[in-house]
Amino acid sequence: MNLHEYQAKNILEEHGVSIQRGKVLFDRNDIKKVTDKLVSETNTKCFVVKAQIHAGGRGKGGGVKIAKNRTDLDKVVSEILGMRLITPQTPKEGKLVNQVLISEDVYYPGPSEIKEFYVSVLLNRKSGKNMIMYSTEGGVDIESVAEKTPEKIFYEEIDPLIGIMPFQSRRVAFNLGLVGESYKNMVKFVTLLYNCYTSSDASLFEINPVLKTSDDKIIAVDAKVSLDDNSLFRHKKFELLRDLKEENPIETQAKSVGLNYVDLDGNVGCMVNGAGLAMATMDLIKQSGGDPANFLDVGGTADAKRVETAFRLILKDKNVRIILVNIFGGIVRCDRVAQGIVDALNNMKNEIHVPIIVRLQGTNSSIAKQIIDSCGHKVYSAVEFQEASDKIQELI
Ligand code: GDP
Ligand code: MN
Repeated sequence: MNLHEYQAKNILEEHGVSIQRGKVLFDRNDIKKVTDKLVSETNTKCFVVKAQIHAGGRGKGGGVKIAKNRTDLDKVVSEILGMRLITPQTPKEGKLVNQVLISEDVYYPGPSEIKEFYVSVLLNRKSGKNMIMYSTEGGVDIESVAEKTPEKIFYEEIDPLIGIMPFQSRRVAFNLGLVGESYKNMVKFVTLLYNCYTSSDASLFEINPVLKTSDDKIIAVDAKVSLDDNSLFRHKKFELLRDLKEENPIETQAKSVGLNYVDLDGNVGCMVNGAGLAMATMDLIKQSGGDPANFLDVGGTADAKRVETAFRLILKDKNVRIILVNIFGGIVRCDRVAQGIVDALNNMKNEIHVPIIVRLQGTNSSIAKQIIDSCGHKVYSAVEFQEASDKIQELI
């Protein structure tokens, strides 16, 4: 589950991590109230307005703007709130901005230089350890830094059982070239950020930029956070942070009926049992010249009700031109699955306008093939994957 910047910053603040302070605004009519509150807490005269959407690169798309005073703020808020923001990370049509974050300006001039860094905490699946990834090149696209100047990205691996050691956060601050007060503040920042990441059961805390202000504070100016869905049961309050408007409606619906569905861009809808088989099926579709429209794991019980729900979900995606059912009958027998498919198709007679290929392999697969072949619906059966693949190539 992904969070908005303002939600992520609230969590950071609760864990003592210094942030660029701000207030979220949902409704233009509240602008006075919200700004009064921010000014009373921060004394800021200049503001930054940031679109709150689940996508980065907002600055480039016109979703982050500075307002020099309160009159200017009114204008800037009306430009951003309600806009359709297009960034390199949004879909082509962009995303509707339903809320903005009004923040204090932290790029003020002062006795020393301002610097932008990149700091993230994430899981390194290869080593099974947490990792702090950091760079002096903050505020810019980290992917292009990784590509063009990989030597400017540093890694600090942390044993999850031991936690972050003081020498590790000191090494981060040192490698970032800091000295004096800002060095001490970075050591504290990194330690608290790491602890925030672990106690939230997150899979990513990405802060870009982390800012060294001109008076040597170290603060999080942006925050991109992904929480681990499997841990949400022990963070009941995080459930309230879910923004359904930002999530794919088919995925949300699938989740509510206990199906694992991930929307993709292709045109071959897939219904598969088991995540591993689903991944392999997607590869095979690609090799057959198709493009998977989704990942869908119907799980162990492929009965008529479940199959029908799965068909309906797949058909909500208007790009789907073929449906491929690829089910292995191990615990569940193929003939039962076949009957489930036929029952589902009987219930949905006029709703399916795309060809369906059904490949059932495993216990009683030949009986299953007979059931499919004699059902009277426009369904192609296959036992070997090659047959299914040939059919995809022919129909695509
Ligand atoms: P992103 O574009 O989605 O990554 O959004 P960020 O929150 O990272 O903001 C983008 C950029 O806005 C930052 O890299 C800064 O250059 C700029 N910015 C953010 N806060 C301030 C601020 O307080 N003052 C000024 N002058 N610029 C800011
Ligand atoms: Mn950013």
